[in-house]
Order: sequence, then C-alpha cells, then structure tokens
Amino acid sequence: MKVYFDNAATTAIDLEVFEAMKPYMLEHFGNPSSIHSHGRQVRTAIERSRKKVAELLNTAPAEVFFTSGGTEADNTALRCTVNDKGIKHVISSKIEHHAVLHTVEQLEKDGVKVSYVNLDENGVVDYDHLESLLKKEPNSLVSLMHANNEIGNLLDLERVGDMCEEHNAVFHSDTVQSMAHYVHDMSRLKLDFAVGSAHKFHGPKGVGFLYINHKNKIHPFIHGGAQERNMRGGTENVYGIVGLAKAMEIAYAEMESHRKHIEGLKTHMIEKLKASIDGIAFNGVSDDLDKSLYTVLNVCLPPNDDNDMLLFNLDIAGISASGGSACSSGSSIGSHVLAELNRDQNRGAIRFSFSKYNTLEEVDYAVEKLAELYQPETTSA
Ligand code: PLP
Repeated sequence: MKVYFDNAATTAIDLEVFEAMKPYMLEHFGNPSSIHSHGRQVRTAIERSRKKVAELLNTAPAEVFFTSGGTEADNTALRCTVNDKGIKHVISSKIEHHAVLHTVEQLEKDGVKVSYVNLDENGVVDYDHLESLLKKEPNSLVSLMHANNEIGNLLDLERVGDMCEEHNAVFHSDTVQSMAHYVHDMSRLKLDFAVGSAHKFHGPKGVGFLYINHKNKIHPFIHGGAQERNMRGGTENVYGIVGLAKAMEIAYAEMESHRKHIEGLKTHMIEKLKASIDGIAFNGVSDDLDKSLYTVLNVCLPPNDDNDMLLFNLDIAGISASGGSACSSGSSIGSHVLAELNRDQNRGAIRFSFSKYNTLEEVDYAVEKLAELYQPETTSA
C-alpha cells in the first residue's frame, strides 16, 4: 500500500485543475503583455483568475498580486514594508516558516530591531506579551502565521488584527497553510498582507499570490517589466495562475465537505493511536480540533532507540510523512519549531498531514505500521 500523508508539504494536483491549465500550456501560449490577439486572450485569463481569487477573498482584484509562491510573497511583504514604511521594529515568532524567519533575520542584519513574541510550552502565542510589545513600540510590523505548517497551531487573526489596529502596526500573516482551507474574508479581517500558495490546495507548484490591503503602498520586490501593475516584474506564469484560481474555486466550493472528511480522518487517527501505542502524545495543540489546522496532526512518540529511523521505516512501509526531531542527530535535521516546544527531546515526532484524497483505510494502515515499531520488545524506555 502506498500512502501519502505529507499534504502540508504539497498536495496532488486536482485533475480538473490540470484540465483548466492545459489549454494555456498548449494552445494559448501568447505573452500576456503583447497587445495582439494571442496576448490579449492570455491577459484575459490572468485577469479572470485574479477576479476569481479576489471574489473568494471578498476583496478587490487590485489587491491580489500573483507571485512565484508563498516564499516570494512573504519576502515581498516583509522586505518592502520595512523599506517603504520606514519600519524600525518587527515582531514575529520563532516558529514561523523559514520564508518568514530567515527574511526577518536578514532584516535584523540590516539594522531592524526584531522581537520574538513569547510562546507557551505548546507553541501558542502569548497574546498579552504581544500586546505589551506593541504598546512599547507602536508602528511595528507584526508577522505571525495563521496556521503553523509543522504543528498546526492556529493564530487568532481577529484578535491580532484588532491589536495591530490599536497600536498602528502593520499586520502580515503567512496564511500559506490555511489559504483555501478556511474562508478568509478580507473585508472583515484587519490584515495588511496575506499569502497563498497553489500547491498547498491541489493546484500547481511555483505559483502563489500576495494580498496587499489597498492602504499599503509598497514598491516591487522583483524589479523588471510592468507586470502585475508594476508590482512584480517577470512574464506571468499563466497556466500556473489559471490553475491557482481553479484550485481555489474548487477548494471553496467543497470546503465544508472536505473539512468534515479530513477532520474525520484526524479524529480517527488520534483515537487509533491512543489505543495502539502506550504513552502517545501530540505536539503543539494539533490534537485539539478547535485550536489547530484540521489537515495536520503532529504525533509525539515514546522514546525508542530507533526514533531516528522513524520516517525511514514508514517510508519502507510505503507511507510518506514528514517529521524532524528537535535535535540534529541521525538522518533528520532538527526542526526549529519542535525545538521551541517544551518536550522530551528523546521522543520521536512525525507530522501526518491529510487531504481530501486520503481514506480511513490509509489511516488504519499507517497506525498499524507505526504501532509495529513500538511493540514492547523494541521499546527501550
Ligand atoms: N509558508 C508556509 C507556512 C509554508 O508551509 C510554506 C511551504 O511549505 C511556505 C510558506 C512557502 O511556500 P512556497 O512553497 O509556495 O514557496
């Protein structure tokens, strides 16, 4: 049996998405910047896609900018906001994706002051600490992700948006993992910047978007032609953009049923794991359905001599998942997210992440294979 439980890394493309993209790979190949009919036809497809994304986000098409993915969108939002708004202080967290964390570290090297908000032992943001940081230094840039890609912890976007408004801070949220999995109503959320990446919701890789609230006037990150209304130079990834919009449209149309299905898988896995492996626990708040991204379950496994080989052993059994111990031992490179949690470093960690294509049978199979690795005779402690 082959099982794919690594949907937070990337998802399988939906066949309907591929079909929507195909004509823009084969027939409609014009450059969207060309003014002849070949170009105009393609330009129309891009603008139709932008309109669709904007409609789903309940915002204006002028606030949606296509990029090469989440990483570029995060870099653009952070770097250009600091440059163009004269931001002197950035507030972020130690468990952000590297697209944010490494950008923030670069900004720090360039002389920007950086504060990291306190997290509790499960990686939950300390909102009181955030408030005190904002009070001390208004006019900051806050960059906090909506859903953590490793442990699934969700941020209260409304609460942080209100705080940022009160203290005149700019609010960027890396929404890559939650985009098209939840409804983001930009007319209601007080977000200055949000991000999407198509390959996280059954679209193609290498394409995403940056939502920029119209109050924010920033210059491009990538200089070049006048594409994306002068905000992002470079010939557009036309079929990628068409695929992104189609994938997002499908995700929104099927959101409720998919969420129910995936929550069912996650609940089933939690229960089966508890029944099959003594001492099982979960990292972050990923076993709390109300507080975590429903697609992610990060399992904390008992200490075992073979924990360094966990992913390898699952791979042998045909199960693709992801992990990362908090230390840098063996074959796995340490996870900077798990390292921030108060957890026993000898325990193993596996991130299972689900999609609409997964089944209960796959969950049963994965739990069975995982439990085999933790039979009493192989357990060292
Ligand atoms: N932010 C988060 C939270 C992610 O999970 C990812 C992808 O893993 C990214 C940013 C980067 O997105 P992309 O792969 O589109 O560059």
